[in-house]
Amino acid sequence: MTPFPRDLYAPLVPYAPDRRPVEVDLSDNTNRWGTHPGALAAVRTADPEELLRYPPVYADRLRAAVAARFGVPLEAVATGCGSDDLLDSAFRAAADPGESIRFIPPTFSMIEIFATMNGLVPRPLDRAAPRSPSAPFGPLPDPGLLLDTEEGTPAIVYLCRPNNPTGEVLPRPWIETLLDQAGPTGPVVLLDEAYADFMEPDEGPDDLLRLAATSDRLVVLRTLSKAFGLAGLRVGFAVGAPEVIREIEKSRGPYKVNRLAEAAAVLALDDREGWIPETLAAARAERTHLARALVERGLAPLPSGANFLLVPTEGIGAGDAASVTAKLREAGVAVRPFPSLPGFGDAVRVTLGPRHETDRFLAALDTLLTPTT
Ligand code: PMP
Repeated sequence: MTPFPRDLYAPLVPYAPDRRPVEVDLSDNTNRWGTHPGALAAVRTADPEELLRYPPVYADRLRAAVAARFGVPLEAVATGCGSDDLLDSAFRAAADPGESIRFIPPTFSMIEIFATMNGLVPRPLDRAAPRSPSAPFGPLPDPGLLLDTEEGTPAIVYLCRPNNPTGEVLPRPWIETLLDQAGPTGPVVLLDEAYADFMEPDEGPDDLLRLAATSDRLVVLRTLSKAFGLAGLRVGFAVGAPEVIREIEKSRGPYKVNRLAEAAAVLALDDREGWIPETLAAARAERTHLARALVERGLAPLPSGANFLLVPTEGIGAGDAASVTAKLREAGVAVRPFPSLPGFGDAVRVTLGPRHETDRFLAALDTLLTPTT
């Protein structure tokens, strides 16, 4: 009999981000501009019938709303309780226990955890080459290095674009080369686009999502937790070829999106000219503004396609990532610390918010930068 607790779970610890109340919380990349107003109205006016009945098994209204927004078939869409749920389900659908998953650190911290939870072997690809002003994230690795390792071919390649926590937007041609090299029988490529809505429109944020609907191996994952302001409702979706999506739904199981979440998400996804594009434009403008303000202070934020900036703490002169985070919290602002990030050293990640929150953050930062006499 398998011993309980399982050995596999020994290295895992429950997720425990610092959620103590704070004046301005810029630590979790949720939407600081608020919640989609139509979605909020849908929750407020819910019929009690919505609560006592089970939701549709695979959230077909939500699938239809995703399909309509992006111009893909409904059968190419899976939904889940946040994109976390879809990542977890996709891992199970695409890999047997003991198989491996490739990714490029630093990236979304849950990946190694979901891999371990599912009995997969995490195989990070070290991006050893040094960073430079012309390549702030370091040169891109040869895609082939993700596909073949000394230990064999991985079952899954995970990529995140824009990447959490660096903000890097992997170029589309590089991803297409990877897909070509992987071919129809290679690893399943999971492209996590949790932050794609924040990319500049001329970067083609939805191009790869549309490609995924007809690709043999590419699956794109999105969330309503960020741009759509619905993290509390837990809604995510995946787009891939119908045969691949079907396997993910089998692995995910029924009833993962509740009725209120589905109703709210459908309204938010239908918004093409209102609150969503307005807040996205505001977030992009704030990204430029905050980056400039940090550079003026002698800091070196990484270029970002997401709703956050990664700021190496070296230039702040107030200690490592943990102590900078603690001091900012004392000054009323929460950010996320990233100690010893491969290639970047200690850094903090700051979520973008409306101007008064940016100002509040900069004021807190200035108390660290200004030498006290
Ligand atoms: N992917 C990335 C890169 C993320 O940063 C997050 C949220 N932290 C998620 C997926 C999960 O998002 P959710 O489960 O809220 O949809």
